[in-house]
Amino acid sequence: MTLIFRTIEEVRAWRHSLPANQTVGFVPTMGALHAGHISLMELAKARSGVALASIFVNPLQFGPGEDLARYPRPLEQDLSLLQAAGVDALFLPAVDELYPAGASTFVIEESVSGPLCGALRPGHFRGVTTVVLKLFNIVQPHIAVFGQKDAQQCAVIERMVRDLAVPVEIIRGPIIREADGLALSSRNVYLKPEERPAARLLFASLTAAKQAFEAGERNAARLTEIAEAMLQGQPGISLQYWDVRDARTLQPVAAAMPGETLFAVAAMVGTTRLIDNMTV
Ligand code: AMP
Repeated sequence: MTLIFRTIEEVRAWRHSLPANQTVGFVPTMGALHAGHISLMELAKARSGVALASIFVNPLQFGPGEDLARYPRPLEQDLSLLQAAGVDALFLPAVDELYPAGASTFVIEESVSGPLCGALRPGHFRGVTTVVLKLFNIVQPHIAVFGQKDAQQCAVIERMVRDLAVPVEIIRGPIIREADGLALSSRNVYLKPEERPAARLLFASLTAAKQAFEAGERNAARLTEIAEAMLQGQPGISLQYWDVRDARTLQPVAAAMPGETLFAVAAMVGTTRLIDNMTV
């Protein structure tokens, strides 16, 4: 039975009722849950025994003109999925529970947040770090699981936790994909059937670059060229970035290095913004 808490006080009371030696795992989400989210819950549960998820569509991480209003909120379906995954508790706060009127304190990471999605979505990572630290303060988990799907988000949170000595171990869960390679995302419901072939090209471009890397190509400019060639001029897709970066710092690299390099892509497919990545 998944317990549902709507207030900070309820979460704190539950948290304090657990035995002192009980490890607690936490998975923050914005809901519209899919198999990618559930894989993180299973990791949290396996690592800690007690798993708490949160569903909060965080207004602070959406920019003007982004999809805050239309973001999917299928709560009943989410609850059944959490139940089936054996998640012990769900924190489901309203906006004014997390952000009291006049809230004026924010967490800003100033380096890893800068490039890629940070450059295209000003204020996005400030919204993410602020809500994640606040949720950590409420839940006080031992571990928190985030998806590699949002590789920059993982790197930003790891940096915040290191810099601010936050006593939470961050675990990255692998990207869960559709059979055709498309990374699962709550935003995939926006895609029209005729947009699916274009959406698939993100994964195809990453795979092409990875194959070139495995065949010995290390030059970042050349790898980018190979990937971009698959996307440019394709109908229905508008590329935002395709880049080769250091996986931890997100800084550009001239050469891809085994175990340290991230290929990252973002594109608009119709009105839907999609991101994907691969580590090599
Ligand atoms: P969101 O609800 O989009 O904020 O995502 C909540 C968590 O689920 C984040 O840590 C995401 O990185 C993760 N996530 C989203 N999609 C996937 C996926 N396809 N595979 C694994 N994790 C994912």
